[in-house]
Amino acid sequence: MKTQTRLPLTDRLANVSEILISFASSPVLSHYYQVLADFTRFTIHYDFLGIALVDPTESAYIIHSLDAKIEEIEELIEFESIDKGIIGEVIQTGKVSRSQLALTEEPPQSAFQFLCTDYHLHNQLIIPLVQVEQTIGALIFAATEGMDYNEEDERVGVLLAAGLAANFEMARLYQGMADERAMFNSMLQSAKDGFVLIDPDMQVQYCNPAFDTMFNIAQSVQGELLTDLFFEHPFIKLFQEDELDQLELELEDGRIVQAVRHTIISEFGDHLGWAAALHDITLLKELVSMKTDFVNTVSHDLKNPIASIRMAADLIPLVGETNQAQKDMHDRIVRASIFMKELVTELLDIGQLESNLGLKLQELDLTEQLEDVMFAQQTPAESKNIMLVSDFKKDTVIQADPGRLRQLFLNLVGNAVKYTPENGEVRVTLTGLENERVQVDIQDNGLGIPAEDLPHIFDKFYRVRTEDRANIKGTGLGLAITKSIVEAHGGEITVESEVNKGTTFRIVLPIKQPED
Ligand code: ADP
Repeated sequence: MKTQTRLPLTDRLANVSEILISFASSPVLSHYYQVLADFTRFTIHYDFLGIALVDPTESAYIIHSLDAKIEEIEELIEFESIDKGIIGEVIQTGKVSRSQLALTEEPPQSAFQFLCTDYHLHNQLIIPLVQVEQTIGALIFAATEGMDYNEEDERVGVLLAAGLAANFEMARLYQGMADERAMFNSMLQSAKDGFVLIDPDMQVQYCNPAFDTMFNIAQSVQGELLTDLFFEHPFIKLFQEDELDQLELELEDGRIVQAVRHTIISEFGDHLGWAAALHDITLLKELVSMKTDFVNTVSHDLKNPIASIRMAADLIPLVGETNQAQKDMHDRIVRASIFMKELVTELLDIGQLESNLGLKLQELDLTEQLEDVMFAQQTPAESKNIMLVSDFKKDTVIQADPGRLRQLFLNLVGNAVKYTPENGEVRVTLTGLENERVQVDIQDNGLGIPAEDLPHIFDKFYRVRTEDRANIKGTGLGLAITKSIVEAHGGEITVESEVNKGTTFRIVLPIKQPED
């Protein structure tokens, strides 16, 4: 019988720590297997070294041979049921097994025991790999006669197995992250939208192929400064101007993209950089422009026929005596043509505002403008006994387009009168705000707007459809125009309303317009 000598314990422990350090250099299973195959023999003697890993979904484990001194044992990969053999027992109990074949399984039950019998691997040391109270597998040593595994081997083996189990956990986490990364990567690689990732120093960390195509980038720009790559290009503004988090860009190939910037903040609140997504909106833009052209053309072409209808209607009473039915018919034609004219005018207005036809800016006294609007609304207000109240800060001069501003306030005060029942009150307040801004509140105590309609009232053609206003005519375009005018002046419009209590529209406008 041949006997083996063991290295001194201190050397064996030093080797274990070497192995554990080597594990750390790459968190992948194949690396751990290689390290075990290369160095375990300096810690524990074996003729066969293997590892079993549990497959929880199958209630089974799989054995891999890592190293064998016996040439014929080349590779062993076997599936075994969890309740089979000595390895299954170690996995289930979580306890080390140090045994001699002759005393354990006879006849052999598992592939591993067959192997041990065939190659006379009489001594076996099987150590569970335990992770937080759960056994994930076992480290398997087997040796021919002459090496009875002892207490010291077991201790050294347990140490090695503990280190291995901890590293497996790391490998699992790493693999999970790598899988996730691979998934995101393939998504980004094949996406039609462009993506770019910038670090806080403005260096490009990543950009996908769609982004490269959008800007004709032929080679990797990772690590390059965005400010160099996009020197004086409008795209750079997205990262230089805080308030600007999206913009439209025309690409060299004629496409139009919308670029949106997102700031990346870590869970500890640190600024990690920015991501920008670029979406091709060429088709959308074409559709919008086609629609605007269509509406403009149709509206323009309708103007003349409507005027002719109105003229023809006005001639009817001049032709001769008309009876009541004819008078009613005449009234209906006149009302319909007034409505159609209003609709066409408003459609043309929207078209002009949307195609950004410049404002005719001049200095104007806002107080005077508002007084003028209040005067214009006097007659309709009086017809419903509605009180018009003005509360103006005097001599407020602002820079604006007088025609558009008048239109804006006529719409809002007109609506306030229109949607307030008899004996109500409409109050217009003008106040100065800090930072060179003014605020105008148009407040009424009328019908109010239901909460579910509020988010939509600035949409084109949106009209509130409640019974109490069923007979009030309108196009649903007034507030859309109003909002466009406010925004064209760099202002903001908000609304607060409660049904049967009243509505307040608030407009905040800058006193000066930015210079071009
Ligand atoms: P319309 O031509 O229908 O008046 P607007 O765009 O001016 O179109 O207004 C949209 C809808 O908002 C209206 O249908 C109306 O019901 C509601 N609305 C606007 N102003 C007021 C207000 N001051 N009080 C109550 N409802 C209002």
